[in-house]
Amino acid sequence: MQTNFTLAQLADPHVAESEKILRACVHCGFCTATCPTYVTLGNELDSPRGRIYLIKDMLENNRPADEQIVTHIDRCLSCLACMTTCPSGVNYMHLVDHARAHIEKTYTRPLPNRLIRSVLAMVLPYPSRFRAALKLARLGRPFAGLFDKVAALKPLAAMLRLAPKTVVASSAMALPGIHPAKAERRGRVAILTGCAQPVLEPGINEATISLLTRLGVEVVVPQGEGCCGALVHHMGREEAALDAARRNVDAWMLEIDRGGLDAIVITASGCGTTIKDYGFMLRLDPAYAEKAQRVAALAKDVTEYLTTLDLPEPEQKPGLTVAYHSACSMQHGQKIKNQPKDLLARAGFIVKEPREGHLCCGSAGTYNILQPEISAKLRQRKVKNLAATGANVIATGNIGCITQIAGGAGMPIVHTVKLLDWAYGGQRPTGV
Ligand code: SF4
Ligand code: SF4
Repeated sequence: MQTNFTLAQLADPHVAESEKILRACVHCGFCTATCPTYVTLGNELDSPRGRIYLIKDMLENNRPADEQIVTHIDRCLSCLACMTTCPSGVNYMHLVDHARAHIEKTYTRPLPNRLIRSVLAMVLPYPSRFRAALKLARLGRPFAGLFDKVAALKPLAAMLRLAPKTVVASSAMALPGIHPAKAERRGRVAILTGCAQPVLEPGINEATISLLTRLGVEVVVPQGEGCCGALVHHMGREEAALDAARRNVDAWMLEIDRGGLDAIVITASGCGTTIKDYGFMLRLDPAYAEKAQRVAALAKDVTEYLTTLDLPEPEQKPGLTVAYHSACSMQHGQKIKNQPKDLLARAGFIVKEPREGHLCCGSAGTYNILQPEISAKLRQRKVKNLAATGANVIATGNIGCITQIAGGAGMPIVHTVKLLDWAYGGQRPTGV
């Protein structure tokens, strides 16, 4: 694609990066076929190619964002299916991240939208605030129908519906400290405890620590780590995202210097995609650029790390049929496609894949709150395809997808690592 940026514009490294990305696009439109919003809405402006044109126009003309571009960029799930499909290697992720940051700087959203986004940014990344909010949501749930009647308040209704009916106690295993290997030691890793996941489902990190330590891996919960920054990053709040990244880099570098790390194990694929991008995100910060690259290189999804271990025979072969739902951040963001399925099959599960596995379930961070209508359509499509597999249980590697799909497909949904932990001598997951 031809671009027309001035030399002065290209002096801005963010613009220079986006220009490189735009030039790689040959506007072939292959990406439209796999874009969930184009498939759902049928509007070219809700396709990757349409959004690329809108972003190009905004950046080239150095224009503040307007309502049209905000509408279509907000509808993008950042699922990155377009990156998997694109034959020209267009880095849509970095382009849309830049567009979102530009929108955040130059566009004033309507007040209700601004308030909801601020509340999400101030609550979700902090486990104690999130826990308190979930308790409050139980009280507010009866009003979800009322909020649904006012367009601007629909996100509140979506938030109340997504909140779990019970809030489970936090896990002592998530506290900073060391979980020693319980077999002959063969590795040392840090685990990202995360922000929303340990509140919604602390059992995921518990199963990970329990499985890894039984396999001979020492697991460190580093002091000082927190939210990976993905939630605010996808809202265009660049500085908040970079601050989160810097704090985690500091926490992990301390552990690298202390006892060395073979990996930083991540159990939410949405976080994994962002942490693997820390090197790029912090490239312009001389104090962090190199450290961020080291950390990003160590980041591994738990299934990715498990495949590097020589696993023993499973203690039991549960023989259940598992529908594997590949989160977008897993398959498109991190290009992890086969490892989770291979691990499940090796552990004795019969693995089935749903039709349209490349399409997002509509979760996408805060998307199911901020774009409830499109999200609901995608959820419906996903649960129908999952139910059609006739499996006993759904496995996936991202808490957002678990929350989004739970209860819809007529079978339980659990994190992949909980099934693996069970097969290798851990606890049977509740509800399975
Ligand atoms: S598939 Fe790639 S090159 Fe083709 S229009 Fe989409 S982004 Fe551009
Ligand atoms: S990230 Fe997903 S929703 Fe956004 S343009 Fe690409 S395929 Fe479409």
